[in-house]
Amino acid sequence: MELDLTWILLGLPAAFALGWVASRLDLRQMRIANRQAPRAYFKGLNYLLNEQQDQAIDAFIEAVQNDPDTSELHFALGNLFRRRGEYDRAVRVHEHLISRGDLNTADRQRAQHGLALDFLKAGLLDRAEEALRKLEGTSYEGQARLARLAIYERSREWPEAANVARLLENSGEANFGVRMSHYQCEQAREAVQQGDSAKALAILSQTLRTTPDAPRPRILLGQLQLAQGQAQAAYDTLAPLFERSDVAAPLAAASLAKAAQAAQQTRPALKLLSTHYQRQPGMDVLEAITTLQANDPAGAATAQQHYLDHLQKQPSLMAATRWLTGQSSNAHPLPAPVQKALEQAIRPLARYRCAACGFEAKEHFWHCPGCQAWDSYPPRRIEEL
Ligand SMILES: [Zn+2]
Repeated sequence: MELDLTWILLGLPAAFALGWVASRLDLRQMRIANRQAPRAYFKGLNYLLNEQQDQAIDAFIEAVQNDPDTSELHFALGNLFRRRGEYDRAVRVHEHLISRGDLNTADRQRAQHGLALDFLKAGLLDRAEEALRKLEGTSYEGQARLARLAIYERSREWPEAANVARLLENSGEANFGVRMSHYQCEQAREAVQQGDSAKALAILSQTLRTTPDAPRPRILLGQLQLAQGQAQAAYDTLAPLFERSDVAAPLAAASLAKAAQAAQQTRPALKLLSTHYQRQPGMDVLEAITTLQANDPAGAATAQQHYLDHLQKQPSLMAATRWLTGQSSNAHPLPAPVQKALEQAIRPLARYRCAACGFEAKEHFWHCPGCQAWDSYPPRRIEEL
């Protein structure tokens, strides 16, 4: 009994001592683990600041392994993978975050947004669209809708684009009226390409009723009516552009002249074009005027005078070339190589240029093929900008 008591008296302090040592060991272990995570995190941050993304990723992966519950590190990793073009890994990180049960709603939405961006950057538009749809009703809704709009425009899904534009307009993002008229015009263009002019006419007439001030549906409708032999209707459609001196009117000048000639409306058309030219002198309108005056016996001389007058208003190689070409029909013809050189010199000046990206083209675009911007081409040729 005495022996047992001695053992107990000796054992108790020993047990306390062992317990104390064990607890210190545990604490040390915990401290090391806790210290490792921030150290790896700061190491990653440091690499990131030095733009050493490879090393930053390694450090963040280490930090995530030490502390798999930290969502911020996962977000940082996901963004890094995406920025480096490692979309598979970025998707895996964001999908892992979404599948976690302990994530709060805000972080889950953030992960969903990250996932949508991964798919967008990877060019997987179907999957991006699906991921973006899941952001409806979240704080990312506006951004997600704009991204979906860009997807539909890129893939030329015009009815879908119109639906999203309507949602954006209703939520007060911006006014999408003109944009929606472009979608209608694109559908009309496709109908013409498929040989369905009746459908195109119906779409354009409807668009003109809803957006009477938008120049594109008016110009397209006028040109389509002209192609269909409805010269008077084409003239009536195009004339308002010149009556209100629309900046896009020069794009319709040649069509208006043709419609006027076919519909016996030369005199009122000349008046319209001349008034517009007085307000906004430009070569397209001037050429439409000279076309209409060509039937006049004094037309050639008048045209020459027009070009000279135009040159007095603004130096223009296009006008000078037209004047020289007109002169050459007299006794002293312009030698063919000179004519060819002049035509070559004015070609780049007669192009149109996107104000957003600088993309130049022989024809005017409403939707830039270079940067996908709408209405970024001024309706004037480069020499007149
Ligand atoms: Zn552009």
